[in-house]
Amino acid sequence: MSRYFIDCRDYPGGTSKCSVALSADTKEELLEAVIRHGIQCHGLDDTPDFREKIMLDFKEAPSHFKV
Ligand SMILES: [Zn+2]
Repeated sequence: MSRYFIDCRDYPGGTSKCSVALSADTKEELLEAVIRHGIQCHGLDDTPDFREKIMLDFKEAPSHFKV
């Protein structure tokens, strides 16, 4: 089983310097975490467009890989 992750450090130029990385076993879980994080920490809007774009950036890693 693989694990999905995304790293805020891959997105420089945001409103705040952020070094948070999020990971989950499923894309759905990760998406919810990313949406919450984006809204709370970056003032982003929860839009279908944002969800679609951010899911394309999810990276896949072996399950033993700890982010
Ligand atoms: Zn962040």
